[in-house]
Amino acid sequence: MQRLGKNHGGYFGEIIDIRAVLEDIRQAAEPHGWKSEMFHVAGGVAMPAWRRAATEVRPPNQNPLRIYLSSGIHGDEPAGPLAALQLLRDNRWPAAADLWLVPCLNPTGFILNTRENEGRKDLNRDYRHLDTEEIAAHVRWLEKQPEFDVGLCLHEDWESHGFYVYELNPDQRPALAPGMVKAVAPVCPIDLSPEIEGREAKGGIITPSMNPADRPLWPEAFWLLQHKTRHTCTLEAPSDFPLPTRVNALVAAVNSALETMAVGQIQAQQKSG
Ligand SMILES: [Zn+2]
Repeated sequence: MQRLGKNHGGYFGEIIDIRAVLEDIRQAAEPHGWKSEMFHVAGGVAMPAWRRAATEVRPPNQNPLRIYLSSGIHGDEPAGPLAALQLLRDNRWPAAADLWLVPCLNPTGFILNTRENEGRKDLNRDYRHLDTEEIAAHVRWLEKQPEFDVGLCLHEDWESHGFYVYELNPDQRPALAPGMVKAVAPVCPIDLSPEIEGREAKGGIITPSMNPADRPLWPEAFWLLQHKTRHTCTLEAPSDFPLPTRVNALVAAVNSALETMAVGQIQAQQKSG
């Protein structure tokens, strides 16, 4: 599969009507028991957080998996919200998982087809200082949620040669990135560069060892790591490939992570049982 070669100096691919996609998400989510809460309005667009409780009855004392997903923090990355929609339509979530989904963190960016919001702020650098209304509202909502087993953040990169993933996993829990790359490879090229975005990469996987406290500007994954989870993956689909390919890549990666988490949960139960 060849790169399209049309993204020079920025993203010049397909755009989406974010209001229509959020309505499609609502229609896909509600029949499967998802409930929404609007935590902010930006550019006249209500920003939903969706939640679905585990559908499987669990023995007492066993916690469900808690999985958090977000997308649409960069307005020129349409594959994330579309992947969220596809995952909701497919409805293949692990039965024993509590799920949280925030499908669009940057409505004004989507309206303008820009990475930043209408105030020209990169929202995925605002999780330390909370200068923007969108991220301040998102963090207020996050603070009311329980801790998550994993946080998955869906993105695109217009410069990359293929899919790649950042995995932050300071406690060395079972890794999710290798399974993701394996699952994505049949549907989308993997970026095999030895260095991606200035960081050492191996087989499409970046595992930065960093202390968020040392960083002046925080992406969402850093806030999650400091406050809500000890494991995050930031999934990056390559914008210079057809949009359906990028959506398929993100969907395959999320499904792989869900399966790995669900298998780990069963193994942990068997050990403790
Ligand atoms: Zn992004």
